[in-house]
Amino acid sequence: MPEVVISTDRTLMSNHHGKEFLGFGATGAPVILPRRVWMYLFAPKMKVDSEGRPWQASYGMRKIEAALQDAGYDAQIIDPDHLKGHLKTAKVLLISHHDYFGFGPPSSTFASIFKMKTVNALSFEEFMEKPEIREAKRRGLKIIAGGPSAWQWTYREEERKKWGVDTVVEGEGERIVVELVEKALKGEELPEWVSMPPKEAPTLEEIPLIKAPSVNGMVEIMRGCPRGCKFCSVTLRPLRFIPYENIEKEIMVNVRGGVKDGILQSEDVLLYGARGVIPNGEKVLKLMKLAKRHYRKVVWSHASIAAIVKSERDEKLISRISEVLLDDKQRWWGAEIGVETGSPRLADIIMPAKAKPFDTKEWPSLVVEAAGIMEDNNLIPAMTLIAGLPEENEEDVMKTLELVDDLWDFKGIIMPMFFVPMGLLKREDWFRAYNLSDAHVELLKRCLTHGIRQGKRILKEYFDDRWWGAFITPFYWGFISAVERAARHYGYLSYPPGRERRSSLPHLKDIKIGAFLRRPRTH
Ligand code: SF4
Repeated sequence: MPEVVISTDRTLMSNHHGKEFLGFGATGAPVILPRRVWMYLFAPKMKVDSEGRPWQASYGMRKIEAALQDAGYDAQIIDPDHLKGHLKTAKVLLISHHDYFGFGPPSSTFASIFKMKTVNALSFEEFMEKPEIREAKRRGLKIIAGGPSAWQWTYREEERKKWGVDTVVEGEGERIVVELVEKALKGEELPEWVSMPPKEAPTLEEIPLIKAPSVNGMVEIMRGCPRGCKFCSVTLRPLRFIPYENIEKEIMVNVRGGVKDGILQSEDVLLYGARGVIPNGEKVLKLMKLAKRHYRKVVWSHASIAAIVKSERDEKLISRISEVLLDDKQRWWGAEIGVETGSPRLADIIMPAKAKPFDTKEWPSLVVEAAGIMEDNNLIPAMTLIAGLPEENEEDVMKTLELVDDLWDFKGIIMPMFFVPMGLLKREDWFRAYNLSDAHVELLKRCLTHGIRQGKRILKEYFDDRWWGAFITPFYWGFISAVERAARHYGYLSYPPGRERRSSLPHLKDIKIGAFLRRPRTH
């Protein structure tokens, strides 16, 4: 039994049916369908071994596990349903999350709209209330919380005390976690809060390699981002490009562990090896070829509008990447892309370098040009918008609405996320106090309608690489249709002026059921 157990709740300990994007579903509010259906659709249980160790685990948790194992500790990631036996003897429990209390941008948006806690926040509460954790805590277990949403504990001091979380670690954790675990095992006093400043971020040599598969084959290719958006903390971190050799070693850990597809993790995959914000086509292509040599399918975590346009205009990079990635095993690839606003005025204030090397004045036209490049090359993104920023005015929201209309036929998801003032988060029922303006409501309706329309188009080929895709697709189709019915009933559907209401909504019968089965198998 390990002396250090690393775990989290089900919404993070899942591979989301092998489709990372479905993980976003767990940030929704449990409406329309029962919560257990939400969990099945978006955060199904993970396969585990006889010890309760998950087949795949979140990439960040794998890094922490590796750092501790390299330092000689018996540390293991354990699935939340298999903690009981392990916590009888473990001395330290490390927990991590992307969104502990549902304050993250997608969750807080859904929470504010539906005035209720989201699926992931409820799931995490249940995790912390597990009798085996409570019992181990009474026995003297030390609990250390970290991960990208560690900042959220600032607003939940009461819960931190109630659940007995000894230490919260904010920032990159690989360096400090060994020191903290050593203290905990020696029975020494732990600090309540550790904030790792960017200058103390681990160097490339100090970042350990994962030792077991990560969720959906995620492998980090760089850390940090040079664009400096005002609302983003990533930008404070030093920029580090992970060497090809280390990337390949981690890919092989996944492949040997039976994970065939992978995600390249970076704030902007196109800036791998870049000089400032100018993509280096040669380095990016080499990376794509490396990943595709081992993975059946390769997708990206994030990319930027400006890099897509710049690299395609200069050296047809997106087209050349599509030639590397797309084949008989992969017909499209995805990425999350920050659009944030359709207003050049607001863009200039909140993200002055996001359009670089172009002028921020061109922002909406750059977004539309990037959308065209993506559509031509089968790159299907989830684009994010941020609304409700303190600097925003009504005209900015209308400009964003116009941009959504310009993207009406674009095959991608547009996710509006609402900025929630931090002060509000102190309230237990913060989501009840958040009010949307009329313009925001219209933007939400338009994005919802766009999402239903394009979501059905995307679903048509979303699972066609899985033999079970034909069986599961109707469930998601049913989910989108249920959302559509509810939206129509409550008057939440909204179309751009002059656009035919329903003519272009796809039908389930259009889905090429069994496309995967009909294709010749090559592996
Ligand atoms: S481009 Fe993205 S990752 Fe970079 S600073 Fe802006 S929001 Fe953060």
